[in-house]
Amino acid sequence: MTSSLTRPIFDLGAELCYVSNGSFVHVSSRAKVSDMRLGAATARWSKSSVRILKKGESTFMALAQNYDQQDCPVARALELVGERWTMLIIRDCFLGVSRFNDFLDHLDIPKATLSSRLAKLVDSGVLKRKEYRTGQSHYILTKQGEALWPILYGLAAWGEAYHAPRRGPRRIFSHAICSTVLDSSGACPSCKITPAASDVVIQPGPGAIPNFRDDAVERALQKPHRFLTRLANSEPTAKRRA
Ligand SMILES: [Zn+2]
Repeated sequence: MTSSLTRPIFDLGAELCYVSNGSFVHVSSRAKVSDMRLGAATARWSKSSVRILKKGESTFMALAQNYDQQDCPVARALELVGERWTMLIIRDCFLGVSRFNDFLDHLDIPKATLSSRLAKLVDSGVLKRKEYRTGQSHYILTKQGEALWPILYGLAAWGEAYHAPRRGPRRIFSHAICSTVLDSSGACPSCKITPAASDVVIQPGPGAIPNFRDDAVERALQKPHRFLTRLANSEPTAKRRA
């Protein structure tokens, strides 16, 4: 089957989406695609490698297809938490961010992307959405979400060790009960236990750049803060309120 396509509207690495005859066409990495010049692309594909995207279907669904052939729990987990922004949203949840505008303010993430990521995390049972009488929604980690703490901490420790400027840690994590700084595995050397996230306090370390960001969440994090507790004064900045 050969068809003329217009220029790709999404380029997801090996995945490409086109508009053809008024419909979204998703060409998977398994397609045999040739002559990919923009504007006059011609593709040759097998029927099984092409599907028409439904109206409103988002690109992350196309991305998830990448791991269809992987019978592996790492691949299943990455379909959810491996998407760009997702782990930063989860990190913010551990910090105590729960309102849409606070995520927006702290992450500078496109609004539509944030909506999509939050919806997917709620659908997957990582977050629960709570509606308050004021009409405001809060996004809270579920038990499944809190189980991501060792992964998040390990990722932070790995990033600090291998992919950060060598000027000392930007954040210091300590055990709330005894104030001892956690080791690289997340354990408290004094108590000989690995505290749950709710028993961990975060504070700026010597490597933190003062005033690197000026948003309400970052300002609230300038002093020691216990994980999973609401950040005081985390109102969106005037820029976002407007
Ligand atoms: Zn301790």
